[in-house]
Amino acid sequence: MARAAIHFDVKPDGTAMRVTLDGDIDERADFSELLKLEGRTVVLDLCKVGRINSAGCHRWVRFLEALAKRHDTIRLARLSSTFVAQALMIPNTVAHARIDSLFLTYWCDRCGEEKDVLSTSPAELARPPICVTCSQPLTPDAYASSISCLFTK
Ligand SMILES: [Zn+2]
Repeated sequence: MARAAIHFDVKPDGTAMRVTLDGDIDERADFSELLKLEGRTVVLDLCKVGRINSAGCHRWVRFLEALAKRHDTIRLARLSSTFVAQALMIPNTVAHARIDSLFLTYWCDRCGEEKDVLSTSPAELARPPICVTCSQPLTPDAYASSISCLFTK
């Protein structure tokens, strides 16, 4: 049998259940064990999500739909930059859920420095981080305005 592409680490976090997903979301992804969680709120930490292909995305969307029927609130936290790119292309990737925070890749026009920065609100996205080497404001790799809408949905 093929090795699972994605692994889950489940921990209680206050009154919520927090699940850290680690690996690729592809045709091997099996989320069924996450449909047995207790509690009103589930937080899915996505910072270790790598590659997402179309078969995996389809499985993920169906999983979120099923999860939303079982719990009052689904929150997505620390979306990796690949996950953000996927959510911009296919909005269903973040349907039924609230987004707490996401990573966006920034780079420095002057020294080429590249860095993933965590944002928790549209206001934070509107304030570009400063390059640690040359103190220039960094440029985001996608339009900050299209990313903001992920927070407000
Ligand atoms: Zn710089």
